[in-house]
Amino acid sequence: KAKARGRGLVEVFDDSMGAVAERRLHLETQLRHDLETGSGALTVAFQPVVEPAGGRIVGVEALARWSCARYGAVGPDEFIAVAEDAGLIHDLGRSVLRIALEQSVWWHRLRPDLEVAVNVSPVQLHRADLADEVGHLLARAGVSPQLLCLEVTEGVLLDPHGASAANLRALHELGVKLAVDDFGAGYSSLSQLRRFPLDVLKADRSFVDDPPILRAVADLATALGAQALAEGVETPEQRRQLVELGYARAQGYLWARPQPADAVTEALRAAGGALQPSPAGHP
Ligand code: C2E
Ligand code: MG
Ligand code: MG
Ligand code: MG
Repeated sequence: KAKARGRGLVEVFDDSMGAVAERRLHLETQLRHDLETGSGALTVAFQPVVEPAGGRIVGVEALARWSCARYGAVGPDEFIAVAEDAGLIHDLGRSVLRIALEQSVWWHRLRPDLEVAVNVSPVQLHRADLADEVGHLLARAGVSPQLLCLEVTEGVLLDPHGASAANLRALHELGVKLAVDDFGAGYSSLSQLRRFPLDVLKADRSFVDDPPILRAVADLATALGAQALAEGVETPEQRRQLVELGYARAQGYLWARPQPADAVTEALRAAGGALQPSPAGHP
C-alpha cells in the first residue's frame, strides 16, 4: 500500500516521526517500570571534582545512568527529558540523591570534607516540598547539609518570587550549597544572580578554551561570594590556564570520567586522594 500512495516526502516524514514517538513512549514506559520496581537499571556514576593545581579530589558529581531493557544505555540528556515530561523526574531525582548521599557516607570515612554534587531539574524545583524532602534525605543518611551541593541551571533563577526561588532559599537555609550549572550558556542577568545565595558558578564547558571568559566568570564568582569551577577540562593546556587564573576547582576527562563509586573510592585511597592529569582520559 505504500507503493500505491507513492514514496513521497510526506510518507518518509511520517515514518520517522513514528519511530521517534515509539522510542519515546517505550522509554517512558520502561523508565516508569524501572523506577517503580527499583530494578537496578538506574545507577549513578560519579565524576571527581579536583583542585586543578595538584589534582586533589575535593568532591564528586553524581550523574544518572540508565540502561533500558530494549535500547540499552540511554544518555541522560534524553532520559532526563523523558522523565521531566512524564512526571517521573521527582522519583528519579530522589533516587539519585539518596544513592549519592548513602555513598558519600562511606567516602566521608576516607575524606570527611568531601562534597557531593547532585543535579536538580527545574521541574523538581516546582514542587513546594523539595527542600523538606532534601532535608529528610540528609537526616536519614546522616550527612551534613554543607557537604551537599545542588546544581541548578540559570533558568530557575529567572523568577525571584516563584516556587523555585522559595525552594532555593529554603535549601540555603538548610545549609545546602547551590551551584549554577552550565553557567554562561543560559539567560540569567547579573541582577537575578545577585538575588540568590549562590556558592558555586560552573563555567559552561563551551568556555574551557576561552581564558578571558573564564577570567570573567571567576571575577563574577568572587563578586557574588561564590567559587568558580571549570567543567569539561580535557587537555594539559586547559589545566595550565585554570591554574594561572586561580581556579580552585575543576572537572573533566583530563582527571577522570564519570565512573562507578568503587573507582572513586580507590582514587581517594591511593596517592593521598589526588588524581594525575592524563590527556588520553581515564576510562
Ligand atoms: P552536567 O550536569 O553539566 O554534567 C556534565 C556532563 O559533562 C556530563 O554528561 C559529563 O559526563 C560530561 N563531562 C564531564 N567531563 C567532561 C569532559 O571533560 N569532556 C566532555 N566532553 N564531557 C564531560 P552526562 O553524564 O551525559 O550528563 C549530561 C547532563 O544530564 C548533565 O549535564 C545534567 O544536566 C543531566 N543529568 C545527569 N544526571 C542527572 C540527574 O541525576 N538529574 C538531573 N536533573 N539531570 C542530570
Ligand atoms: Mg551538573
Ligand atoms: Mg554542566
Ligand atoms: Mg548540562
